Parts: sequence; structure tokens; C-alpha cells
Amino acid sequence: MIISKNPYTGENIAEIKEYTKADIEKALDLADNTYKSWKQTTYKHRSELMMKAAAELKKNKEEYAKMITLEMGKPISQAVAEIEKCAWVCEYYAENAEQHLANEVIKTDATKSYVSYEPIGVVLAVMPWNYPFWQVFRFAAPALMAGNIGVLKHASNVMQSAENIQKVFERAGFPKGCFQNLPISSAKVEGILRDKRVKAATLTGSKPAGSSVASIAGEEIKKTVLELGGSNALVVFKDANIEESVKTCVQARFQNTGQSCIAGKRLILHEDIAEEFLESFSQQVRELKSGDPLDEDTYIGVLAREDLAEDLEKQVKESVKAGAKILLGGKRDGTYFEPTIVSNVTKEMPIFKEETFGPAISVITFKDDMEAVDLVNYSDFGLGVSIFTEDVRNAEKLVPMFDDGAVFVNELVKSDPRLPFGGTKISGYGRELSEHGIREFVNRKTVYFHSFK
Ligand code: NAP
Repeated sequence: MIISKNPYTGENIAEIKEYTKADIEKALDLADNTYKSWKQTTYKHRSELMMKAAAELKKNKEEYAKMITLEMGKPISQAVAEIEKCAWVCEYYAENAEQHLANEVIKTDATKSYVSYEPIGVVLAVMPWNYPFWQVFRFAAPALMAGNIGVLKHASNVMQSAENIQKVFERAGFPKGCFQNLPISSAKVEGILRDKRVKAATLTGSKPAGSSVASIAGEEIKKTVLELGGSNALVVFKDANIEESVKTCVQARFQNTGQSCIAGKRLILHEDIAEEFLESFSQQVRELKSGDPLDEDTYIGVLAREDLAEDLEKQVKESVKAGAKILLGGKRDGTYFEPTIVSNVTKEMPIFKEETFGPAISVITFKDDMEAVDLVNYSDFGLGVSIFTEDVRNAEKLVPMFDDGAVFVNELVKSDPRLPFGGTKISGYGRELSEHGIREFVNRKTVYFHSFK
């Protein structure tokens, strides 16, 4: 049995029966058989169904959002926004997939030569709980539009949301088997990955999970995309618009109660503006409303599981022991963790060096541009960085110096269906979203016509 537990109340809300070997066998057979007909459908047909999925998400967003909130503690207004974003990604791929995957003519000695982008079959998605719908939809919308089939192993604490995602596709009229949720523990992933009917895998989650899935897939010579952790920096230069930067940095760190791979976890401030910035930043963080995640005006909910809150507490405590100073917050009560600001930080402290997955931010200062770049790149992670400055020309010069998968100037790092999303270093490889994302799980077929005439 997989238990679904409300992290705010501590109540068990569901017990989900795990799939047996026979259930998995049946599901993979269905997936494989569905692929045979699905890959032959037209883009027009897939697009109509994907638009219906978007409409279904919009129509029943409260129902889907509520389950997210109950299962993992996300404030309800943010859960509704997550569902709306899923509708957007469905519409985006419904409208653009055909163009993204159109034949690409390449002039050669042939009478005609081109690349065609064709589906590869059943793709396994192993997904995390922090954006239970978004992480899945940003994989599923392009995968299904490309003519592939999705099977989902979702995080154990959001299994009812996983069922709801399957329901969205069923309600939209997709053939049974196009997208299936497999209620299984992570121990069953290996067998599925090694199964001949499964052609590739995508994993969003931690480094150990990514490393395990990629190793097994590597042995089987199957393609993987990995979207792993992050420790994004928020770099504020001395010419930045402080008022606007503060607002953006607060949102970058504290939305989703800090449980986001692309959250700004390390605040890197120019020493000349550090005091002014921190005063305003602390004030705004103090005003964030904590409370029941089901209340419309709650901004800070609870962490998704108590062990996650304990991990964060340990990182903060160890950093303090090593000389860091708590400017705000720092305390835990069950799954709740106070919005926390930690200063006097050094590069070796856990709060700077490790990924912190909750509402706590580390603060460090710099003297010049190169020191800021070194601090950003010091991290083993490489998802994204935000820099705040009014000097656009200098920002353009700095962009190539960052190792990350994304650089946002005067904006928090965010995902957008139109832009590629993904990391470098231990944040993973491959890209999701945009034309780059839909081309990850396709056969780029070289086609060459020669004439003997
Ligand atoms: P996690 O523990 O790695 O779990 C992610 C998924 O992998 C879950 O479905 C989990 O199943 C499964 N899993 C765990 N160990 C596995 C293994 N050895 N083999 C196969 N599957 C395995 O991560 P999480 O705690 O849910 O999520 C937080 C992490 O995800 C953070 O590091 C965060 O930064 C990262 N993340 C990255 C992105 C991105 O786009 N780059 C987005 C969101 C989150 P169980 O739940 O059953 O263990």
C-alpha cells in the first residue's frame, strides 16, 4: 500500500494499492499496443485532443488543485496557478508540435534529402511531488503530440494527483493507454526500464534517483533526460533597482514554500547595497502569510513531508554552528518551517553548498563582477541564475561566464513552454519545453532519395 498523507493536518487521506507484476505487464502491453495506432494519427487529431485536455484542466482546475494542496501542502492559489500553466503547455504543443517536427530539408547530392522527426514509442516518466501536475504535463504534452506514449511513476506522496492526471487525458478523449499512471514504488522502476516495450525515460527529481535511472537506462542503451536539483543564485549588482529586485527575489525563493528546483537559494549581494537590500528583503519576507494551505490568502504552506523539514533544519543548524547568523526565522514545527534568512555565510556551509528545499535563503556578499561569477559557478548545480542590474551591456558580457542552463536578467528563473528548460553539471542534461523539448524523444530519421535516371 502507498499512503497519501496530508502534510498540514498529518491525516492519512488515502491508501493506494500498488500495482502487482501482472498489473504492470497489462499496462505495458496496453501502452505498446496503443502506440501502434497512436503513432499513425495526424497532428490535427492529436492537437484536437490536446486542446480538450487544456479545456478539461481549466474547467476542473479547483478539483485538481485541491488534491495537490491536500497531498503536498502547496497553498491553494499557487496550486490553481499550476493547473492553469498545465493548460497553457497543452495549448502550446497543440498549436506548435507539427511545426516543431516538420521535415527539415537539407540540400545534398541527393534528389531529395531531409530529416524527419518520428515517435519512438513508450516513454517512462519518473516524477517528483513539488509540482505534481506541471512536471508531468511538461513531459506529457510534447511526448503525446510527437506520437509517443507516456507511462508515469509519480512520487509516492502524490499518487492521487497522479490518478487525476490520467483522468484528465481520459476525460479529454485520448485513447486508453496513451497515458497511464502506474501506482508503484521506486523499487519497481528498474524492471520497467529494462522492459523492451519501454524505449526511453525522463526523470525529474534528485541526483541519486537520476543517477540510478540513467545507469540502468545506460546499460539498456535507452535515452534519458534528467531534470535534477538546483541551487540557483540571485545576484544583485550595485546599480540594480533595489525595490523591484527585492520583490522578485522574495518570490524567487519563497513561492511554493521554497520547494522548487529553480528557486533562488543563494542571495549574492554587492557589498555596497547589501545592507539596504537586506533591510527591505527581510521586511517583505516577514510579511509573507503562513497558514492553512487551503486558505486563499496563504503564501507559505508546509513542507511536503516532515523529513524534508528536518533536512532543512539540519542544514540551517550546521551552518549556524559553522558561524552563520540567522537574520529571520530558523525554527521548525512539524512540517512547517519559518521563512528564514541566513547571513554571514561562507561557500563551504551546507546552506550555500547544498540544495536547500524549503523556505530558507543564504546571503553572501561580493566586491566585483568576477567574484560574483565565481560564487555562482562554485555550485555543483547548474540550473539557472538571476542577475539584477540596470547595465544591460555589462549583463550581456557576463551571460557567457555562467555555467548554468539559464540566465535571467532582472527576472526570476521560470519555465515557459516557449523556452527550453534544463540544467548543466549535476542539475542534469537534456531539455524540456519548446522545440528543443519535443525533439528529445524522437527518432531523427535521415531520409535520402537517389535517382538512377
Ligand atoms: P526524488 O526523491 O528523487 O523523487 C523523484 C521521483 O523519483 C519520485 O517519483 C521517486 O519515487 C522516484 N525515485 C526515487 N528514488 C528512485 C530510484 N532509486 N529509482 C527510481 N526512482 C526513484 O526527489 P523528490 O524529493 O521527489 O524531489 C525533489 C528533488 O527534485 C529536488 O532535488 C529538486 O530540485 C528536484 N527537482 C528538479 C526539477 C527540475 O526540473 N530540474 C524540478 C522539480 C524538482 P518515490 O517518491 O516513490 O521515492
